[in-house]
Amino acid sequence: MRPEILFPLFAKLDSLKGVGPRIAALMEKAAGPHVVDLLWHLPREIIDRRDRPTVAAALPGKIVTLTVRVGRHEAPSDRRRPYRIHTADDTGNLILTYFRGDRKYLEQILPPGETRIVSGRLDLYNGIKQMAHPDHVQPLDRADEIPGIEAVYPLTQGITPKVLAKAIHAALDRAPEMPEWLDDAFLKQREWPTWRQAITTAHAPEGSGDLSPLSRSRLRLAYDELLANQLALTLVRMRAKRQGGQVIKGDGSLRRRVESALPFALTGSQITALSEIYGDMASPHRMLRLLQGDVGSGKTVVALLAMLNAVETGGQAALMAPTEILARQHFDTIAPLLTPLGLKCVVLTGRDKGAVRRDALAALAEGSAKLAIGTHALFQDDVEFRDLKLAVIDEQHRFGVHQRLTLGAKGAKTDMLVMTATPIPRTLTMTAYGDLDSSRLTDKPPGRKPIKTVVVAHHRLTEVVDGLTRKLREGAKIYWVCPLVEESETNDLANAEGRHADLIKHFGEDRVALVHGRMKGKEKDAAMDRFVNGPGDILVATTVIEVGVNVPAATVMVIEQAERFGLAQLHQLRGRIGRGDAESTCILVRSEELTQTARERLRTLSETEDGFVIAEKDLELRGAGEILGTKQSGLPEFRLADIALHGELMRIANDDAKLVLERDPDLTGDRGKRLRLLLYLFERDAAIANLKSG
Ligand code: ADP
Ligand code: MG
Repeated sequence: MRPEILFPLFAKLDSLKGVGPRIAALMEKAAGPHVVDLLWHLPREIIDRRDRPTVAAALPGKIVTLTVRVGRHEAPSDRRRPYRIHTADDTGNLILTYFRGDRKYLEQILPPGETRIVSGRLDLYNGIKQMAHPDHVQPLDRADEIPGIEAVYPLTQGITPKVLAKAIHAALDRAPEMPEWLDDAFLKQREWPTWRQAITTAHAPEGSGDLSPLSRSRLRLAYDELLANQLALTLVRMRAKRQGGQVIKGDGSLRRRVESALPFALTGSQITALSEIYGDMASPHRMLRLLQGDVGSGKTVVALLAMLNAVETGGQAALMAPTEILARQHFDTIAPLLTPLGLKCVVLTGRDKGAVRRDALAALAEGSAKLAIGTHALFQDDVEFRDLKLAVIDEQHRFGVHQRLTLGAKGAKTDMLVMTATPIPRTLTMTAYGDLDSSRLTDKPPGRKPIKTVVVAHHRLTEVVDGLTRKLREGAKIYWVCPLVEESETNDLANAEGRHADLIKHFGEDRVALVHGRMKGKEKDAAMDRFVNGPGDILVATTVIEVGVNVPAATVMVIEQAERFGLAQLHQLRGRIGRGDAESTCILVRSEELTQTARERLRTLSETEDGFVIAEKDLELRGAGEILGTKQSGLPEFRLADIALHGELMRIANDDAKLVLERDPDLTGDRGKRLRLLLYLFERDAAIANLKSG
């Protein structure tokens, strides 16, 4: 139950004075449904209105506050022209203009013959000073209603800044003094304000310094949010541990046979990762481990061996891939290794319907199928496992926490292994999973040659195509990735189809295959098959298409408008080549005009292949929100904290949370009770349900 002190903050927006249902709905869209959401809606900029010159001294292009006598109103005969109001002070004339101005209203706020204070941006139009739609108009006796420094909030469609500011002030009036949930010594050492002071200052900046995410108020608020996040995650993990898992400790019989059938020896980091995974599985706690490994680092075989460990004990294991192609590919890799062992493995994707699906479901439910590979179709309600002991999720950043947990729920104490292809900076994994156990594959399988990466400008595309002719003669297979047009899938498709047609003109119909997101499963397979087994040598693809495909003969990748892709995404795409033992080349085709950030991104990529370096750079260049595509990744969205800037706070919050919960696991102590309040404030109510005396 939410504590009473927070009730005013969790009232609906329309409970605020001056906020009706229409405005409330618009604000809800921009900020959220409750009063507290308005508090989290922090200003981004300030407008300084303290400059109060005479009309003659006022500079065009600047925000000024002027005191003028109102003269004639001039309503336009043509509605397309502005309504003009002539005003002046002793030094000069100023015209106020309003497009589609309403005479009655304007005569009321700017009555001819009276003096008014107006504040807004001054412009020069045909040599005459003008102010279009002043931000503030007040009579002299209400001059103090024009703020000297005004906070500017992120744009909210349909709500004027004034209405928004008023609502936020009303929300601030409701903000109570809270019992302090931070450690006293820590607070003193940092010289941070109380929560109420912090939120008030954050909304009443006195200079641009107050807008900085590193100002004391903002740091305090960010820390509160991060601490709530870390407490919640730590609580969930503690509960998972309390619940316990199963001891899974196979006899090694299946694993030995598969290992000896592999055409290679495991790398050092594969061996280390496996021993960590086996260790977790053998412990009575439930495993939740992240396996991070760059593209091509060999995660699949690690997953397979872990799954076999579960099967050796008589249980089942499932591997979930983010897309159908990847699921099929995992199946194609894994199935041949299982057949000699007499193990049945089923595939389950959205495409499987009717009898095939029924048979697969039956095999899983009765336990005759020991392994399942599939997409999210694996965790639909009608899928039942006889005894699911291990779920492996090949994440590639596309699954949300929700799905992850759903699959876990298929087996009461199912161990979970989450594989991610793009290395994630530690601060980010912390926000998504808390202090998650994690294994890293750091060495690539031996024999890989480095990928040569070059950046070329778009006007050299013809040269690029000519270069491909040479590569094809040498027997290369080529990926051609088409520009990503975010706004429209249709455009993506048009781009890919256009490029496909161009390349056909150049290389002939047979040699160029096309694969894109709108294709049906069968068509995709056919296109992939043409590429892998011939006669196709060039595969034109949108990124919708899979980054996980493994075609060792593919040694060239062209990425058009590379600057439109994120660093991590480019890195993943590039990882599709360099998988065989031939030299590989990645050609990043860039547009003529590039932003500084885009330039730096492409440079990073041409300089390194180290996924961890790239991930850190990505965080630095873009900030956390964008990195994983927040919504899809299951990464929590922060309102006040910015992981790229507040990484240090995150680490402190993590320690703080662990320490507190070690001493006071059910948050019943003095500070514990206050921290409960913090959890409620940040709507981590679910975490509180994990406490014994919730
Ligand atoms: P990813 O980590 O991107 O999923 P994969 O598991 O698809 O990588 O492995 C990429 C390729 O490397 C596969 O062809 C796989 O058979 C091969 N591979 C995996 N481990 C090794 C190893 N220890 N030595 C040589 N090749 C390996
Ligand atoms: Mg993989």
